[in-house]
Amino acid sequence: EYMLWNHKIVERKQENALVSFEDRGYQFGDGVYEVIRLYDGKFHVLDWHLDRLFYSMEQLAIRPPFSRLEIKELLKRLVAANDFTVDGKLYLQVTRGMQPRDHVYAEDLDAIFYATVNKFDQPVEMWENGVRVTLQEDIRWLRCDIKSLNLLGNVLARTKAQRNGFYEPLFHRDGIVRECGASNFYMIKDGMIHTHPANNYILGGITRKKVIKLASELDIPVVEETFTVDELQKADECFLTATPMEVVPVTHIDENSVGNQAVGPVTRQLQQYYRKRVYDDVE
Ligand code: PLP
Repeated sequence: EYMLWNHKIVERKQENALVSFEDRGYQFGDGVYEVIRLYDGKFHVLDWHLDRLFYSMEQLAIRPPFSRLEIKELLKRLVAANDFTVDGKLYLQVTRGMQPRDHVYAEDLDAIFYATVNKFDQPVEMWENGVRVTLQEDIRWLRCDIKSLNLLGNVLARTKAQRNGFYEPLFHRDGIVRECGASNFYMIKDGMIHTHPANNYILGGITRKKVIKLASELDIPVVEETFTVDELQKADECFLTATPMEVVPVTHIDENSVGNQAVGPVTRQLQQYYRKRVYDDVE
């Protein structure tokens, strides 16, 4: 097994990829990451992920340690080195670099990065039966659009949710439904899909972007406007999306079941269409 450690492919062993106690990622969570899906060993919508990665680095003024072309090349070499030909996910993170501890970062740091690939099977049980989510106050910061390593808000919320038997927390802030702990959220009302606009309150999901595109191909209207916790109670169907999981039906919000079927028809249609169309955007 191999990993990418800065610009090199190395054996995936602790001693081959050690970070300093003065790595800013270690001290401050000062860094960004991406999770990219692989289908049959091929990257799904790689360019969209790289767009978002460069956006995250730019927003935090992290000096990119690679060009777009270089990282593409390196990620493909990593997959090839592992003879990886199954379904999986790739994790890539970039930290700002090393420096004696100081909130104020130096301008000239060399960013540190690594990537690994892991097998990840289709979550068929979840696709079939759906999941439950639980409403929680959103205590995260106001730049959720950056895919930052600072995930304590998500970590606490997801842990609490799962300890209580829910797959995801459903964040609300100021009475408005935002997103889940590691996925975007949607409600369907009268045949229309409603989802939070891609702004600073949520992560602009890659799966979200693809779902919006596919919905338009299916002539299902998508409304990218906020909706409230009260409005959510009247939803016909709900679902969530994330790179590893694709489209997952949401059957319950806390103790209340959503709509009047376990999994609604619009969710099912989108889910199946998404499944079919993943192989169109691989490289
Ligand atoms: N929202 C949050 C907070 C996330 O962490 C994630 C991804 O893990 C998503 C949404 C979904 O984004 P994507 O579809 O790009 O995986």
